Amino acid sequence: MSADLHLHTNFSDGTDTPEVLVALAKTVGLTTIAVTDHDTAGGVALAVAKGAELGLEVIPGIEFSTDDYNTEIHILGYFIDLGNAAFQETLKKLQKGRQDRIYKMCEKLQKMGINLQAETVLTLAGNQAPGRPHVARVMVQEGLISNFRDAFRGYIEFGAPAYTEHYKMKAVEAIKLVLDAGGLPVYAHPGVSKCDQVIPDFVAAGLAGIEAIYPLHNEGQTQHYINLAIKHGLLITGGSDHHGQESGRRLKLGEFVIDDKYVEQLKNEHLR
Ligand code: AMP
Ligand code: ZN
Ligand code: FE
Ligand code: FE
Repeated sequence: MSADLHLHTNFSDGTDTPEVLVALAKTVGLTTIAVTDHDTAGGVALAVAKGAELGLEVIPGIEFSTDDYNTEIHILGYFIDLGNAAFQETLKKLQKGRQDRIYKMCEKLQKMGINLQAETVLTLAGNQAPGRPHVARVMVQEGLISNFRDAFRGYIEFGAPAYTEHYKMKAVEAIKLVLDAGGLPVYAHPGVSKCDQVIPDFVAAGLAGIEAIYPLHNEGQTQHYINLAIKHGLLITGGSDHHGQESGRRLKLGEFVIDDKYVEQLKNEHLR
């Protein structure tokens, strides 16, 4: 009995459809998953339906990229009312920002001698929330670079010459948006953002949980964030951040799981 509360589909930069992801989750023995695409909930309904068909619990989720404190902070939202008007309005704005950014990023790359067309990237992405992994994948496919990692390292990672911003909310805005839409906001992979000083502000804004259990957290970090969650009276969550079978990441679905007790606590908080 195990769960994974952080998964991406091809509605953002994952490579599997929601249906394939859910079927695979069932096959590898997960009991509960959450679909948490970047700046879109487009894949949630399909995943929930497939979960109902196969007998696997699918929690609706999202992962917002936010912009604050000179770093990138991701806020997960669980159990959001997807029909909420402010939530839907914000998604439109975020997605337009992501699409515009692909054009800007390709312009920068072209100036650097990388002949990449925005239309090619948008076609490959085939969704409303295109991201940098789509750019990196097309660079590899078109033979413009030898591998995905080098595309990030040399061109599009934070601080690299073709890195391009897109419209983002402030983290506290995202927390409030999730709360106003009936959801539970969780600070994603805090050990990646390395910005613990923000946590009291997030708690004051209504943060519900911390994603303490995450593949890039070492044992010390995991314990540190579990302690912080306990100190602030927050939920502990976790997930693999799996991006699909073709994403090139080493960790396979089902290899990084969390105990069901964390899911129970999350569900109880939602029902409270
Ligand atoms: P975006 O939301 O479009 O800025 O893209 C974020 C995605 O890019 C996330 O899924 C990250 O896992 C991935 N990513 C960010 N930085 C790197 C990096 N240096 N190497 C590989 N993937 C990265
Ligand atoms: Zn991603
Ligand atoms: Fe993230
Ligand atoms: Fe993620």
